[in-house]
Amino acid sequence: TDRHRLVAGRACMLGGVHFADCPVGPQGHSDGDAVLHALTDAVLGAAGLDDLGTLFPDTDPRYQGADSTTLLRTALQQVAEQGLRCWSIDLAIQCDRPRIAPRRAEIRAHLAQLFELPLDRVNLKGKTREGVGSEVEAVDVTAVVLLGPAA
Ligand code: MG
Repeated sequence: TDRHRLVAGRACMLGGVHFADCPVGPQGHSDGDAVLHALTDAVLGAAGLDDLGTLFPDTDPRYQGADSTTLLRTALQQVAEQGLRCWSIDLAIQCDRPRIAPRRAEIRAHLAQLFELPLDRVNLKGKTREGVGSEVEAVDVTAVVLLGPAA
């Protein structure tokens, strides 16, 4: 899982896709892409490796404004070194804005490419927050990944 506050003046990056027309974006030390962070933690956890915060500490100036795609690629490399690969992904993205549905296919395609998976093994759904916790705008992501032997 991952959660970031959504604030004005931040580029809105989710799942490696830029929502240029969204007036708020995820606050964070890196680009704040909560989708890629949740996925990175999921693959690391499933492989019995460390977590995102340990591998890429937010106190390290090297990760200031970091592209979360690079962090995910590094994690996938470490997973490959364990003789594992990702077999499927499922994601739930919860936020009131941006609307995920219109960009769903684009995010899926981007993640399929990143994980080297066919499209039907990459699933995601956008959900609203149903007015819960609406005093602080945020994006919440839940990611489930299935890992298996690389060969
Ligand atoms: Mg994060």
